[in-house]
Amino acid sequence: MSEPDIADARFDALGLDPQIQRALDELGYTSPTPIQVKAVPAAMQGRDIVGIAQTGTGKTAAFSLPILQRMLPHANTSASPARHPVRALILTPTRELALQVEESVRNFCRNTPFRILAIYGGVPMDPQVQALRKGVEILVATPGRLLDHLKSKLVNLGTVQHLVLDEADRMLDMGFIDDIRAIVAKVPAQRQTLFFSATFSAEIRKLADSLLTDPVTVEVARRNSPADLVNQQVVEIDAERKRGALLALIRERQLPQILIFCGTKIGANRLTQYLVREGVQAATIHSDKTQSERIKALEAFKASELSVLVATDVAARGIDIEQLPMVINFDLPGAAEDYVHRIGRTGRAGCPGEAVSFVSPEESRNLADIEALLKKPITRMEAPRLADGSSVAARGGGRERADERGPRRAAGERVARDLPVPNLRDPATEVDPMALPASAFQSVEQRRTLPPPPNRRRGQAEVPALLRRMPKPDPAVS
Ligand code: AMP
Repeated sequence: MSEPDIADARFDALGLDPQIQRALDELGYTSPTPIQVKAVPAAMQGRDIVGIAQTGTGKTAAFSLPILQRMLPHANTSASPARHPVRALILTPTRELALQVEESVRNFCRNTPFRILAIYGGVPMDPQVQALRKGVEILVATPGRLLDHLKSKLVNLGTVQHLVLDEADRMLDMGFIDDIRAIVAKVPAQRQTLFFSATFSAEIRKLADSLLTDPVTVEVARRNSPADLVNQQVVEIDAERKRGALLALIRERQLPQILIFCGTKIGANRLTQYLVREGVQAATIHSDKTQSERIKALEAFKASELSVLVATDVAARGIDIEQLPMVINFDLPGAAEDYVHRIGRTGRAGCPGEAVSFVSPEESRNLADIEALLKKPITRMEAPRLADGSSVAARGGGRERADERGPRRAAGERVARDLPVPNLRDPATEVDPMALPASAFQSVEQRRTLPPPPNRRRGQAEVPALLRRMPKPDPAVS
């Protein structure tokens, strides 16, 4: 197969049926992305495909357009469920990705009579059961919930002609390998398989080899190369001061959308509560939230009704928000690769993005790993501070307004005395006790008076804005 000309490619040259082409026109898609140029013609001929591409490259259209084209001879408007057997099965690792894929494919087939359904866990089975009974040609599913429906004999995969594995690497990471094998065993061996993965490890290659026949491999460079399009910065800061600096940054930037990553669900919850108390329109998504809460939060964020979405890594997987201006790592991820995934949420579609990471001394090892992976150091920036010149930690309660607090304290004036002693059960307490290393001090109040840790590396930018306001350590307690 000759190498397609990517620069001059147009959708109308791909030979798609007018029903599909019209949908693309309506959606404003004029030129195919590189993965679409490479994958669509081969898949339209019925070839298996291994696509090495990330979310944001246009891979959803790359696998769904050729499938729709090949399914069109079967399109019918009959009311009979038997006339709408499952012909295409698209497996995704997360519910969010399943919903996004469903939305895209529904758009692509808007001028056809095909029925499409997404099934995923965390919501009642019954509405899915009702929809399955009516018959659907295109099924988008997360593996666990699909297996539940298979066990109840509500889905017949014996009619599947096109199988897609989307974000196969993430499905392996999430431990779905056995589920995938159990599902594939129910799909006819005579089928077309389209396999997409952001990375291509030996394990992924093994899985692809076992599922595909003589595939065409297409690989595209990341559209959102972090080096090119994302302005990355690091704020070195003690853990307990992160929240105040984050709030200051949010207020300073006034961006329509900021995606914030936390390492844990409890951390995400606490941070969201704090931001909401401070008047920020924020919500959180993580795996303990119900599906409808997650969808609601995501939709509100996409519509810019929420300016801040706080997420954990797994929940944020596959979230695609056009032109997201900023990602903040409130905690650094444990694995350096996840940093690249996280900041890849911004800087898409040619728009510049910004990624700021708050890094505590305890996380300096993770930062070193990330910089090793990127093969360059990340620029340090000063910790932002609140407009009234105070840090949240020094505001004695946080909820009062600056003009209600009486005269300003001079920098270095004793602050700790005025601060409430944090109540470990009260999330309203300003210093987050969860953020404090347990062994470090006798009381939280004392911790607030400690100087910057001595192990801060030479040459690193100091974190002056917040720390400078802290009083000198009291020799009696240090
Ligand atoms: P995906 O990688 O499939 O998640 O697609 C990322 C985003 O790019 C989605 O919002 C798509 O709607 C959009 N997109 C995909 N292909 C094209 C195209 N050829 N022209 C314009 N937008 C596209």
